[in-house]
Amino acid sequence: MGGGRGAAVPIPCPFCRAATGELVSLFGSQLLLSQYRCTRCGSYFEGLREDRWDAGPVEPAHEGGDEYGG
Ligand SMILES: [Zn+2]
Repeated sequence: MGGGRGAAVPIPCPFCRAATGELVSLFGSQLLLSQYRCTRCGSYFEGLREDRWDAGPVEPAHEGGDEYGG
C-alpha cells in the first residue's frame, strides 16, 4: 500500500455550487467551522471542519417532570 496523504474533501461552494472550496483558515467564526474560499467565484464561506468530534460530555436534557400546575 502506497503512502498517501489524506486528500481533503472538496467543500461545495454555497454560491456557485462548485466543489472548489479551499481551506483558508482552520477556525472560522465558530470553533467547529472553518473558513473556505471558492477558487471559482472567489467567495468566502464557512464550512464544518473535517475533524470529527469525539463523544464529549453532553449536558443532560431538561428534566422532565410531570407536575400539575394549578
Ligand atoms: Zn463559488
